[in-house]
Amino acid sequence: MNLEFDDHTTQIPIRQIADPIFEEKHIEVSIYLDYLNHPRISGNKWRKMMFNLKFARDNQYKTLVTMGGAYSNHIYAVANAGAEFGLRTIGILRGEEPNHYGYTLRHAKAMNMELEFVSRENYRAMRANPSLISEKFPDAFFLPEGGTNDLALLGFESLIQSINIPYDYLAVPVGTGGTLAGISKYSPHLEHLGFMSVRDASLHESIRVLSSNDSFQLIPNFDFGGYAKTNKVLIDFINDFYVQYQIPLDPIYTGKMMYGIFELAKRDFFKEGSSIIAIHTGGLQGILGYNEQNPHFPIHYSE
Ligand SMILES: *Cc1c(COP(=O)(O)O)cnc(C)c1O
Repeated sequence: MNLEFDDHTTQIPIRQIADPIFEEKHIEVSIYLDYLNHPRISGNKWRKMMFNLKFARDNQYKTLVTMGGAYSNHIYAVANAGAEFGLRTIGILRGEEPNHYGYTLRHAKAMNMELEFVSRENYRAMRANPSLISEKFPDAFFLPEGGTNDLALLGFESLIQSINIPYDYLAVPVGTGGTLAGISKYSPHLEHLGFMSVRDASLHESIRVLSSNDSFQLIPNFDFGGYAKTNKVLIDFINDFYVQYQIPLDPIYTGKMMYGIFELAKRDFFKEGSSIIAIHTGGLQGILGYNEQNPHFPIHYSE
């Protein structure tokens, strides 16, 4: 396995979002375009996989096994990583096999990922006890749901080091919390805001344990009703943002985070004179799946 990837993670652009509301509130908001960090395994899923892949290579693993939902950005990323680095991949999917595969599953299959559908109950049991998976696939390297584990956090050190402008807040979307844990581990003196995309009361504690620090704040108010829930206000916001800044946002994570940043600015949440950097964590494949299901009200985006 050839892992020449370090150069992909340099030179990520940071774009300022010059909206009148931010000028009025005397704050600066920028967005770190980390979806550009790798052409096929983009954003935080690539960050979280980098050191796991190195570990798998160094320990002669030839197979990756992981788990996720039918629209999971992580499943998509692992399938692409398998194709890119010549590894066999197995995806354990939550729930019954659908009659029609959505964009994510079709792509994973095209990348030769082997898909195993398990009942929600079995899925929960496996997530709580990954040795059930290791017993079944003893020769495979196991990546947890969302790719979040201790090795995953290491991928965020280079992100933090590459930021070459001063800032007071870093913002990220939160699913499993691996990304928030990673950035708060490597810049512990700052304020880190995690915009929650899922409702999970155990997140604060699990992120604290992962990152070994407390320099983060979870913001639950902008999940639009829960994981993968959307409405017209959110989709209009994403489409307007794309027209204004030519930056695509996904409907599950980055769209909700950016919406939340505008709302918090209006509510004077940020200290006057402060600078906020939002990390664009990727997930753009989610737009294609969303548009398949909502052809009458799509998210505007061209690859
Ligand atoms: C998976 C994902 C997240 C959530 O990351 P966690 O590390 O699980 O909190 C955020 N943004 C995007 C685009 C994702 O695909």
